[in-house]
Amino acid sequence: MKSLVIIEHKNGVLHRMSREAISGAQKIGGDITALVIGENAESVSSELSNFQIEKTFIVNHELVPSYNVDGYKEIIKQVVDSISPNIIITGHTYQARDFMPRVSAALDIPFIPDIVELENNFYIKQVLNSKLNASISSSSERALISFQSASYSEEDIIKGSSRSESFDVDLDSSSIKSKSDDPFQESASEVDLESAELIVSVGRGIEKEENKSIAFELAEVLGAEVSASRPVVDAGWLPSSRQVGSSGSTVSPKLYLSLGVSGAIQHVVGMKGSKNILAINKDSEAPIFEIADYAVVGDLLEIVPKLITALQDS
Ligand SMILES: Cc1cc2nc3c(=O)[nH]c(=O)nc-3n(C[C@H](O)[C@H](O)[C@H](O)COP(=O)(O)OP(=O)(O)OC[C@H]3O[C@@H](n4cnc5c(N)ncnc54)[C@H](O)[C@@H]3O)c2cc1C
Repeated sequence: MKSLVIIEHKNGVLHRMSREAISGAQKIGGDITALVIGENAESVSSELSNFQIEKTFIVNHELVPSYNVDGYKEIIKQVVDSISPNIIITGHTYQARDFMPRVSAALDIPFIPDIVELENNFYIKQVLNSKLNASISSSSERALISFQSASYSEEDIIKGSSRSESFDVDLDSSSIKSKSDDPFQESASEVDLESAELIVSVGRGIEKEENKSIAFELAEVLGAEVSASRPVVDAGWLPSSRQVGSSGSTVSPKLYLSLGVSGAIQHVVGMKGSKNILAINKDSEAPIFEIADYAVVGDLLEIVPKLITALQDS
């Protein structure tokens, strides 16, 4: 098995989902080549050199100094033609959603997006609002795939050492017809849940809008972001940029502290990649406890103020 992982970066800073894509490629096994494109490719490749992959190709061409869909399509096509990987992998980012369909058309290789796993040649994809997993098989020997956020953990990356080399591409300005605006923003607001290391999440168990202040106090003491379940957003208590779940953000913090969240599948799908889940819920049968690492059965309105005081005193 030979895979090519297309790396995404912002001014030389590696995107979390590209690390997850490397982690996923390592799970699949075989030879892994990473491809970094753009002006800051060298600084990204030095981070990649610490991972157990075969090599990193660097493409730093004057016509594609930063993201450009035509440039990416042309470069990826030339790299794929040269090394013939079985699978071409990216994180399922906004950028990947832009260039992967074009690469797919240019190479005539199917694109199977937003998958959570590759298992015995089946591509596993969540369907029906994440209630079911579908196993997709392809008659093509090659595939382009994108991994859903948090399907694999960057912490599982196998470290090692790898080389990088420059890959020469043949581009001319007539093939670069589009011009990209500023880099894509994963979130239009100041809240960056997807990169947050600590999250305090508020569910309907918070009972009324005034009570959300205790979640913000707890978040402040911990240095965490505040997220919410959908009913809290629908009620207008918090903005939609803070929603976690199938119709919100997908997060993978080191600690997800959930307050009065029942653990419906549409919520869980957005936070199950969290490294540690601590749930407070007054119902001992709440589904959130099935995935929680730490379960606290009780009234959050009593427990959280005490927790804040204890943390402040410590
Ligand atoms: C198409 C579709 C898309 C959806 N997308 C999303 C999504 O992106 N994100 C999302 O979150 N949901 C989504 N939902 C909604 C989802 O199905 C659930 O309804 C929602 O997640 C439930 O939110 P909740 O856990 O906050 O509320 P509830 O299910 O009402 O749970 C509240 C919990 O709080 C506990 N509780 C109550 N009072 C206290 C207290 N004082 N102390 C401690 N615990 C207490 C209760 O025991 C209960 O478990 C979607 C639904 C659909 C149909």
